[in-house]
Amino acid sequence: MTDLIPDRETARKCQAHSDDADDVVALPARKAQLGNGLEIYRALPQIGLRLIGPWCFLDHFGPLDVKPGAGLRVGPHPHTGLQTVTWLIAGELLHRDSLGIVQHIRPGQLNLMTSGNGIAHSEESPAGHAGRLHGVQLWVALPDDERHGEPRFDHYPELPSTETLGLRISLLAGEAIGLQSPARVFSPLVGLDIEMVDTGSRRIDLNPGFEYGLLVLEGRVTVADHQMGTGTLLYLPIGRSQLELGNAKPARLILIGGRPFTETILMWWNLVARTPAEIAAARNDWEHGKRFGIVRGYDGPRITAPRFNHRLKA
Ligand code: MN
Repeated sequence: MTDLIPDRETARKCQAHSDDADDVVALPARKAQLGNGLEIYRALPQIGLRLIGPWCFLDHFGPLDVKPGAGLRVGPHPHTGLQTVTWLIAGELLHRDSLGIVQHIRPGQLNLMTSGNGIAHSEESPAGHAGRLHGVQLWVALPDDERHGEPRFDHYPELPSTETLGLRISLLAGEAIGLQSPARVFSPLVGLDIEMVDTGSRRIDLNPGFEYGLLVLEGRVTVADHQMGTGTLLYLPIGRSQLELGNAKPARLILIGGRPFTETILMWWNLVARTPAEIAAARNDWEHGKRFGIVRGYDGPRITAPRFNHRLKA
C-alpha cells in the first residue's frame, strides 16, 4: 500500500512486569503517510522487529472521516514476493489490479493479493464514498518456493467467526479457536480480529510454536500485564500456550502470529526479495513497464519507484 522507505527510527524495548512475560516487548508503531498524505501507524517492520512469523508489514489506518472525493488514494504500484492482506473494520475501499480485477471491500471481508513474481494494484476510497474509514493492511512474505509463481487475487466475502468469552473473533487466516480460514496462505500462520464486546479478563489459546504480535485498533487492552492503547505493537515470542486479555471498556485488536520465518528476506519499498540484485531488477522492471502489468481505470498517475537512497542490506 505504501510508497515509503522504512526509516531508521530506533525501537524502544520495554520490560514487562509479570513473571511469565519478561520476554514480551512493546514496540511503538511510527507515524507514516500514505499516498495523498493520509496519516497511518506503521507497526511492522521495525528496526528491532522485521518479521512476526512470515508477517512482514502492518499498517493501521484510521479511524478517520472521509469527505466525499477524498479519503485513501494509492495509485498503481508493484509488489513482488509477498501477499497483501486488507481488512476493514469501517468504511469501504476499491482495489484494482493488473490482472484486471476490480473489487470493493467492506468490513468483514478479506482481500488477499498474492504477488508471486509480480503484480501491480491501486487502492482508493470509492467515488462518492464518504464516512468513517478504519482498517489494516498487512503483508506476508512468500516462502522461496512460492515467490516466483503466478500472481492471483482472492476476495473472501465472509470469514469464519465465533463469539466466545465476551469476544467476537473473526479468523482472517490460518487455524485457531476451532476455526479454519479459507484464505490461501503458504506458511504456518494465523491472523485474528478480536472485538472485545464484553469487559473483563479471559485467556485465549495460542500455538506455542508460533510467535505473535498484537495491535490494538480501538480502546485499551491489558495483555500480559501491559496496558495497551493504539499505536503500540506487542511482540510475544514462541513458547506461550495462552494469552490473558483484559479490558474495562469495549475494545478491538488484531492478533497475528506464525512459525518463525527462517528465510532472510530483503524488503525495499513495495518489494520483497532475497538479494539487492533482485530488488534492483524488480525496480527496473517497474520503471520500464515490464513484469508487473498495467492497472486500468485508476484516475491518477502510477507511483514512481524511489531512488536507492540507503544501503540495501544483503
Ligand atoms: Mn500495495
